Amino acid sequence: MNFTEILQNLTKKPLADCTDQELYLALLELVRQKSADRVQSVTGRKLYYISAEFLIGKLLSNNLINLGLYEEARKALAAAGKNLSDIEEVEPEPSLGNGGLGRLAACFLDSLATLNLPGDGVGLRYHFGLFHQSFENDIQNEKPDPWLTAHSWAEKTDITYPVELAGKEYTARLYKLAVTGYEGRTNTLNLFDLDTIDESIVHDGIAFDKTAIDKNLTLFLYPDDSDEAGRRLRVYQQYLMVSAGAQLILAECAARGCNYHDLADYAAIQINDTHPSMVIPELIRLLGKKGIAFEEAVEIVTRTCAYTNHTILAEALEKWPRAYLDAVVPQLMPVIEKLDALARTRTADESLAIIDQDSLVHMANMDIHFTHSTNGVAALHTEILKNSELHGFYELYPEKFNNKTNGITFRRWLLECDPRLTARLEQYIGSGFRKDASELEKLLTFADDETVLNELTAVKKANKEDLADWLLKTQNVKVNTNAVFDIQSKRLHEYKRQQLNLLYLIHQYHEIKAGHQPAVPLVSIFGAKAAPAYTIAKDIIHALLTLSKVIAADPEVSKWLQIVFIENYNVTAAEKLIPACDLSEQISLASKEASGTGNMKFMLNGALTLGTMDGANVEICQQVGEENIYIFGQSSDQVIHRYAANDYVAAQWYENDANIRRAIDFLNGPEMLAAGHSESLNRLHHELIHKDWFQTLPDFNAYVVRKGQALSDYTCDPIGWRRKCLVNIAKAGLFSSDRTIAEYDHDIWHLGNSSRTHVRLGA
Ligand code: PLP
Repeated sequence: MNFTEILQNLTKKPLADCTDQELYLALLELVRQKSADRVQSVTGRKLYYISAEFLIGKLLSNNLINLGLYEEARKALAAAGKNLSDIEEVEPEPSLGNGGLGRLAACFLDSLATLNLPGDGVGLRYHFGLFHQSFENDIQNEKPDPWLTAHSWAEKTDITYPVELAGKEYTARLYKLAVTGYEGRTNTLNLFDLDTIDESIVHDGIAFDKTAIDKNLTLFLYPDDSDEAGRRLRVYQQYLMVSAGAQLILAECAARGCNYHDLADYAAIQINDTHPSMVIPELIRLLGKKGIAFEEAVEIVTRTCAYTNHTILAEALEKWPRAYLDAVVPQLMPVIEKLDALARTRTADESLAIIDQDSLVHMANMDIHFTHSTNGVAALHTEILKNSELHGFYELYPEKFNNKTNGITFRRWLLECDPRLTARLEQYIGSGFRKDASELEKLLTFADDETVLNELTAVKKANKEDLADWLLKTQNVKVNTNAVFDIQSKRLHEYKRQQLNLLYLIHQYHEIKAGHQPAVPLVSIFGAKAAPAYTIAKDIIHALLTLSKVIAADPEVSKWLQIVFIENYNVTAAEKLIPACDLSEQISLASKEASGTGNMKFMLNGALTLGTMDGANVEICQQVGEENIYIFGQSSDQVIHRYAANDYVAAQWYENDANIRRAIDFLNGPEMLAAGHSESLNRLHHELIHKDWFQTLPDFNAYVVRKGQALSDYTCDPIGWRRKCLVNIAKAGLFSSDRTIAEYDHDIWHLGNSSRTHVRLGA
C-alpha cells in the first residue's frame, strides 16, 4: 500500500474530500500505530525523568519526521490538494510547560528515544497549562490554555494509583504519550491526572477555588503562589506527581524482576529541579512498606536518584514551611525528619540542614544529601554552584558534583523549524548531521565561499518573509523584512533583563529624534509571559507595549524602529521566530542564567548572539570565537563581588549618567503617560532607580555600544556578517541534546546496554 492508500484506509474517503481536522486525526492514528511498532523491551537500567514541566510543543510534524514519514505525508497530501502546514494548525499545543526547564525535558525525551535508550518521562497532565496570554489595554491578561481534546496524543490507561493527600485518598490515573526518536525507539511520557477535575470551576480568567483539591489539582501548572492556599496547592501537585510516579516505577521494575533491594539496577531517576524532590522520601516510605529498613532504603534511593540544579536564584530553590508538609503529606514527615537527622550526622553546617531553625524544609538540600549526583546545566553555572552557591555541599561531597551543559534536539529546532536551511546544509555537507550534529563543522569549508554565503542570506530573507506573514496573520502587525530582526523571547524575568532592551529602545528613540539616524532599521521582537503575580514583570511588558505605540505613532522614528511584542509565546511561536532571527538577545545579568537553551536554538539557525558572559553563552563564545559573537557587560565574578559587597546603588548610576537618566525618565514622561498607565509606569521608574536588583544600569552603556556595533556590521559588512552566521551554525553541534544525553548516560545513568550510543562526547 502506498501512503495515500494507508491514509485513506483511516479516513474512509478520498483525501481530497477530507477536512483538515479529519486528516489530522488520520495522521494522528497512523503515527500512533507506527510509534507502537517501535516500542522495545527494556533490559538493565531504565531512566525515569521526573519533571513538573514537559514543554513538548505540537507533535504531528515532529513525529512524522522522526518516523521518516514527513516527506511521504507531505507529498500524498499535496497530491490531494492539501497542505500539511494547514493540517498542523488544527493541532493544539500541549500546555505542559513554561520555559527552558520544560523544553529541556522535551528535548531530552527526543534524544533518549533517538539514541535508543530506555527513558520515560513522569509528570502531570495539566488541563490548562500555565495560562494563555493576551494583551488587553496593553496589559497582560491571563486565561486558561486548553489543549485536551477528544483525540489527544496522551492516551488514557486503566492504570491508577492511590495517593494520600491531607489524610484523604485520591486516585491518580496514568495517561501515556508515545515519544518516538529519530530513526529510534518509542519511549513514553507518563502523565498523571485525577478523574474528578472540574474545568468549570475556573472563572474570571484563571481564578478558581484553591481548596477544592479533587476538582482543581491538575488544572494549572504553577498555580499562583502569592497566597498560602496557592503555595499549599503546589505541594499537593508535587506529591501527586512523585507518589504516583514512584508507584509506577516500583511496579514496572517489579514486573521486570526487581526485588526492590536491587532497585538501582533497574531504575535511574533524574529529579529535574526541586519540584519532584519529594520522590526521595516517598520512595523510602514505599520501600519501607515492602519491608526494607530505613538505612537500606536510603542507600537504595541515593544510588537510584540524581538531581539537576537549574538555578542559583535563591528564591527559586524551594523551601516549604514544614506546617504545609505536616498538613498535606503527614506520612512523609517522619521520613524527612529522619533524613534531616541523618544529614546532621554528616555535617555540623546548619546551612546544609534539610529542616532549618525556622522549620523550613529545603528541598535542594534533601536532593544533594540523598542522591548520588548533583549537576549544573552549563560549565559556568556548575562552577558557581561549586564555588559559591553550594560550596558547603561541594566540600562535603565533591564527587557528587558534575556539569552537563544543556542541549536542544536538532530534529525540532533545525529539521522541523527551518526546512530551508536544512535543505541547503544537506546540499553542502550531506545529511550526516541529522544523526551526528558534530558533522555541521564541515560547513566551515565554505566560510569564504561567497555563493554559499549569499545562499544563506537568501534562506534568512525567506524565513523573515515567512515570519512577517505569520505576524500579520496572527498578531496583525506589518514588519519591514529589510530591517534587522532582533529577538528576545523567553520568560519575562528581571534577571533576563528585558528592561535593559527596553532602555536601549528608548535610547534609540531619543537618538533618532536628535537626528542620529541608525545604520539600519530595527524590528525588536519580544515574546514572554510574566508570572501572574509578578508585578514588575508585568510592568515591563506594559512599558514595552506602550513604547511600541509611542514609536508607531511617530513617523520620524517608526521608519527606523519598531517593537513587536507577540502574544502567548510558546513552542509554536518559537519555531516561527527562531529561523527568522538576525540578532539573538541573551542579556541576562552574568551569573544568573544557569544555561539558557534559546541561545543555542538561535545560533543553530544562523543568528548572532548579543549577550553577556552568562550560562551557556560562555560556551557558545568558546565555540565560535569572540569575533563571531557580540559580548558585553560585567563578568559573573564582578557581579558576584558586587552582591557580596552589597554596595550597588542604582540611584548613583542614574544620577551620574545623563543617558541612563534620559532613558529612565522617559518611562514616566509625558509621551509614555499619555499612551500608558501611570501607576505601572511610575512603579517601574521607581524600581529601576531605587532597586534594580539585577544591575541593569551598570551594563547599559556597554550594551548600547555593542548593539550599535552589531547593527553597523550587519549593514556595512554583509558578507562578514553572514560568515559569522555560518560559523555559528557550524559550531552548534556541541549543543545537540544527543551529546548532553550521552553524557548523562555515560556519567550518571548507565542505561540498558549503553554501548549502543554512538555520540561523540564533548568537543
Ligand atoms: N520557551 C520556549 C518555547 C523555548 O523554546 C525556550 C528555549 O529554548 C524557552 C522558553 C527558554 O528560553 P531561554 O533559554 O532563552 O530562557
